[in-house]
Amino acid sequence: MSRVYNFSAGPAQLPLEVLQQAQGEMLDWHHTGMSLMEIPHRSENFEKLAASIEQDLRDLLDIPSDYSVLFLHGGGRTQFAMVPMNLAQGYSSMAYVNTGVWSELAFEEAKRYGHAHVAACASKNNYLDLPLAPEWDLPADAAYVHYTDNETIQGIEYPAIPEISKLPLITDMSSNLLSKLIDVKKFGLIYACAQKNLGIAGITVVIIRKDLLERTPFDFTPSMLRYAVHAKDKSLYNTPATYPWYLTGLVFNWIKQQGGVAKMAEHNQRKAAKLYKMIDNSDFYTNKINPLCRSKMNVVFQLHDEALNQKFLADANKHGLINLKGHRIVGGMRASIYNAMPEKGVDALIEFMRDFERTA
Ligand SMILES: *Cc1c(COP(=O)(O)O)cnc(C)c1O
Repeated sequence: MSRVYNFSAGPAQLPLEVLQQAQGEMLDWHHTGMSLMEIPHRSENFEKLAASIEQDLRDLLDIPSDYSVLFLHGGGRTQFAMVPMNLAQGYSSMAYVNTGVWSELAFEEAKRYGHAHVAACASKNNYLDLPLAPEWDLPADAAYVHYTDNETIQGIEYPAIPEISKLPLITDMSSNLLSKLIDVKKFGLIYACAQKNLGIAGITVVIIRKDLLERTPFDFTPSMLRYAVHAKDKSLYNTPATYPWYLTGLVFNWIKQQGGVAKMAEHNQRKAAKLYKMIDNSDFYTNKINPLCRSKMNVVFQLHDEALNQKFLADANKHGLINLKGHRIVGGMRASIYNAMPEKGVDALIEFMRDFERTA
């Protein structure tokens, strides 16, 4: 068997142990004589599984009981609409912190539901530095403030959770949920699609403070897009994406076995520090982001000579280092090193980069 190191931003590499477990359980899940995919979502079996997956996530992040945990359809992008649809009715504005491609897309979508106010914007720093919470311009009567904790494309991440006292803080953690410990109590709502750091495409995790479920959504909001409907039905209002849900559960379990989120964070810190150090010590590779705000999940870098980009990617492929091409908006390279990327994968990349620099 030959597995590559896959540095894709998403769908991304999964832990080998998770894939093996899924393979082992494929034909006969827990002595049911069926695959998990064939089990009715309203069966006792599935309900038990769903409850235990929720409990695992609650344990991993120490989620307090006044928060609901939802497993929804539609990816990160559906949340760009669900957040304003469910939470902005009756408020004069919603505040958005724009720090890169994803937060700006969330902002554009929110404009369709009311007055989206720009609280801060990283474009004046060319997305190389982040506006910290004390600089945010927040209208007192806004419905909430939304920010993106890790900008997957720009490779920029908040070094600490912003301290906001007057408005519910809402965050898109699609590319870094479970990569580090967070204090859930600081948030009104957290969302993350699964295909980056949590599992596979098809399921989105939403952690919402229960009082926010009481806000009345706009009259025409479809039932499928109402948080309260999903909370009431434990995310089983319609047929959920059972297999992605199960697989995400296997990843939660894997994180527990690795020693939990604190261990993951330690691991991620070490992987990212090594890679940035290599980049900073070289004149051949560069990353211009303020070191305090560099993403530990998505490491972007440029080659000093762009003409070498194609050769870099082709040679990397030959070494089993796949999907290093940067997003077209940013150019250069991007190594996504989520929880499932072993330190050995980062070591192999560093070694390759050194060799390439010497011989190019
Ligand atoms: C990938 C990503 C999204 C979009 O997720 P989809 O599931 O494709 O809708 C949103 N936000 C961030 C930060 C992402 O990285």
